[in-house]
Amino acid sequence: MMVLTTVMYHYVRDLPGSRFPRIKGMLTDAFRRQVAFLKDQYEMVDLESALAFIRGDYQPTRNLCLLTFDDGLKDHLTAVLPILTEQHIQGIFFVSTSYLDRCEVSSVHKNQILMAAVPFEEYRQEALVKLRELAPEISTEVSAEHVCKTYRWDAPEVAAFKYLINFVLSDTLRQRLLNHLFERYVGSEQVMAQEWYLSWQDAQQLQDAGMVIGGHAHQHNVALSALNDNAQRQDLERCASLLRSRLKPQTLWPFAYPWGKPDTFTPATVELLQRLGFCCAFTTVVGTDESGADCFRLRRLDPKDVPMKMSLATSSSEMDGKFQKMPVR
Ligand SMILES: [Zn+2]
Repeated sequence: MMVLTTVMYHYVRDLPGSRFPRIKGMLTDAFRRQVAFLKDQYEMVDLESALAFIRGDYQPTRNLCLLTFDDGLKDHLTAVLPILTEQHIQGIFFVSTSYLDRCEVSSVHKNQILMAAVPFEEYRQEALVKLRELAPEISTEVSAEHVCKTYRWDAPEVAAFKYLINFVLSDTLRQRLLNHLFERYVGSEQVMAQEWYLSWQDAQQLQDAGMVIGGHAHQHNVALSALNDNAQRQDLERCASLLRSRLKPQTLWPFAYPWGKPDTFTPATVELLQRLGFCCAFTTVVGTDESGADCFRLRRLDPKDVPMKMSLATSSSEMDGKFQKMPVR
């Protein structure tokens, strides 16, 4: 039985020569090697063939592989596109439509940039001091189980801190905290937004090169499941209409859920996406898909999962039920 393996990338760049060499990303050379490896092992498919396989309309003789890129990062134009073009591979690029105006840096990325710019201990202490000042009542206890499932590749104390910032704090509190720290350690948000994100024009350039753009919500500040029905509908409608009005026509508009774990979207999210004309949606649930899979709950692999994909069968259940609460100090 053949399967579809979808790989999910974020940062791909020449880290040592960049302004933030400690950003958690893949080196351009490592990406090039991984693409060559995948091309050797799989039939690299475009979105149309991948969906035909899922529907049962295409019976390949090899396992399929689809490459996806989240968050509308500038890297996708500068580092990824040349490699995909050279290898004649279609990539799917999921953009949060608010990022493409490049006026502000999202909270998630502010946190990532700060973690790369400031030694972790200093940053954590500074953040916790400011947090106590802004919201003395906030508990900094986080569930270790959720932490480890969300940030599989970080050291426990780093994962716990990221979880606290991204999932425990309210949106308003998170923004106040990160704006303070960003201004102190990094500087102009607008300058950084221009450097960090694709513009609408960049996204069109990806389309011109045969790539597919997909939705990744309009804002990427909270999980879609954390929004009330009205706010969720507004966000997704805005995302869908901006993609159609600011980009070139596409026959297929895919979607990727921000964060993408099963608790970050609801059946209402799926219904909305279908109504708005999205053809499928990708999660970050680790795994591959067989023909007949639910095309609004497609699974993906992290690049780090790729060489070890045979051990996947045990990876998700292994971690269940082993964790207690851990404090963020
Ligand atoms: Zn994302």
